[in-house]
Amino acid sequence: MLMDKNVRKENRILEKTLDSLEVRRQAPLYVFILLLILYVVTSLTISMVAGSDKVMILGSVHIPLYTLAGVFSALSNLCIIFMVIFCGKTGFVASVIVMTLQIPMIMVGIFVRGNYTSLPGVFVDILTIIAVVVIFYNKRKLEKYQLRLREQATTDTLTGLPNGFAGTELFDELIRHNKPFAAVHIDVNDFKSINDTMGFSIGNKVLIAIASRFKEIADKGLSGTVDFISRINGDEFSLIIRGYRSDEDIVNTIKQYEAALTENIKIDGYDFFVNASFGYAVFPDDAADRDTLISCSVAAMKEIKRLGSSKHILRFFSELKAEDHLVMDNKVREAVEKDSVFFNLQPQYDISHRLRGFEVLARMKDSDGTAVSPVEFIPAAERLGLIDVLDLEVYKKAAAFFGDLIKRTGTEAMLSINVSVKHMMKSDFLDEIIKLLENSGIPAWQLEIEITESILIESAEKASGILNKLKDMGIKIAIDDFGTGYSSLSYLNSFPSDTLKIDKSFIDKMNSGVSSQKYVEAIISLAHVMDLKTVAEGVETADQLETLRGIGCDYIQGFIWGHPLPGEEAEQLVAAGMMVTVGDMNRSSAKGKV
Ligand code: C2E
Ligand code: CA
Ligand code: CA
Repeated sequence: MLMDKNVRKENRILEKTLDSLEVRRQAPLYVFILLLILYVVTSLTISMVAGSDKVMILGSVHIPLYTLAGVFSALSNLCIIFMVIFCGKTGFVASVIVMTLQIPMIMVGIFVRGNYTSLPGVFVDILTIIAVVVIFYNKRKLEKYQLRLREQATTDTLTGLPNGFAGTELFDELIRHNKPFAAVHIDVNDFKSINDTMGFSIGNKVLIAIASRFKEIADKGLSGTVDFISRINGDEFSLIIRGYRSDEDIVNTIKQYEAALTENIKIDGYDFFVNASFGYAVFPDDAADRDTLISCSVAAMKEIKRLGSSKHILRFFSELKAEDHLVMDNKVREAVEKDSVFFNLQPQYDISHRLRGFEVLARMKDSDGTAVSPVEFIPAAERLGLIDVLDLEVYKKAAAFFGDLIKRTGTEAMLSINVSVKHMMKSDFLDEIIKLLENSGIPAWQLEIEITESILIESAEKASGILNKLKDMGIKIAIDDFGTGYSSLSYLNSFPSDTLKIDKSFIDKMNSGVSSQKYVEAIISLAHVMDLKTVAEGVETADQLETLRGIGCDYIQGFIWGHPLPGEEAEQLVAAGMMVTVGDMNRSSAKGKV
């Protein structure tokens, strides 16, 4: 109830701000009343002075009072014209009525009392009425034109949403009145690839569909807060949130906009699975002026995009303080310098719980021994241009361990390593991998390289050149985090991949609705048609496992069967003889040359 009242109050502010963007302005009622009174007073004065034969003495000048009638008449006409100009339709109607009413009164004076001096007054009245009508209708035309201009200036023609200009006007208005609000910068992930591959016309339709989903939430007040959504340009939107009680309300509102994209968008027989990155900053806590606020929300959006995690919402400052960056950057520099980054191995199993192999996950510890998440230190290493050094340190340690394990146990398990695109694009990447295999003694078919889907699409040409060379060497290629990006299986077909890792976010949703399950099922069957094996990431529950088994998923990686482990513990899994024939299958499709 309280929220309803707040929402209504806040809505009025939004409406008022948009109204203030209109060029058309109408004077308040009291101006109209004042002009009307002034008109009545001057008109009465005219009739009093017109018939008077008195003389007014100003110093040595004698002025007959009747000569002042002209001055008062001009004044009363001025009141009429001002009423039409400043008081809109009310002023127009009132002025026509009073002017028309005057005519019979003057006529009575002329024909009954024989006062022919009032005759010019009739003409003045008629001319004034004509002038008033002309002014009013011209003004109406101008206003309609201005209204159209205003709409054009504040509306995005493609989606019909308010445009960036309207958004920044609202920013300014709220800041001027010191009203707290959250500024959310929204960027659709991998939208470029839709445009590139499907063309602008379909791209535009996707944008219109996204905008209409956003608009529905904002217009119907579905989020419980007061939202103003606008399209800035391209695939970027801005959301202003008001009327929240806590930070949690802000996040919940953003989550509604995020969820609005969950269902696939159907355009011309194609299915598009889009998601977006949401960066936000709060006025006045995070920034006190419009430009800083916008850059903060954009910075947060870019950061969450770069993290490439399944989380798509990030607030500036609380999670992204510049000092935090600095602290993290120093930690990464120090760790890389001291070569103290180490690795864990997370087991992957086939659906019958036979070991398939391990994913190498980088690990780092603070000086006080607390673990730092790769979700934080990998982006920092990328930012610092140290990702290739860091990756290589991890690969060398993991490969040395694993090569030794192969020698000692003859295991045929796979070793999967994560590659950052910035690292992969370096000219000596292939040489590094060749050396890694030579020094560790790991056969090429036992090494798998994981690359995220979105990265592949962003740098398609160069990436496919490098991947083809890796594939020729016999190395396996896995597409990581599948489903978070453009999700086009046919597009991925042009890359020489062997494995598709279905992102945890899809596994999480899988048992929440038939359509999500059908989606995962479709990915798996299409992957099989394309001769790709599928790995479900982040499997945590027995339900998920059962569903995946039912829909033919090949491999499972998740806490249900194994957390990331130190090398020695991973070795025990190998030694426990859980690993059976999966390696044979890996080897059969290998064309190892190294
Ligand atoms: P990723 O490649 O998608 O790795 C899987 C992440 O999911 C790992 O997080 C893993 O611990 C987590 N995970 C696996 N199963 C489950 C589960 O059942 N439940 C939950 N909640 N999580 C699960 P981690 O280790 O924090 O790694 C995060 C990301 O950091 C990785 O995501 C990868 O993109 C990046 N990364 C990790 N190691 C490296 C590396 O050596 N080099 C590069 N370039 N990136 C790395
Ligand atoms: Ca991975
Ligand atoms: Ca992944």
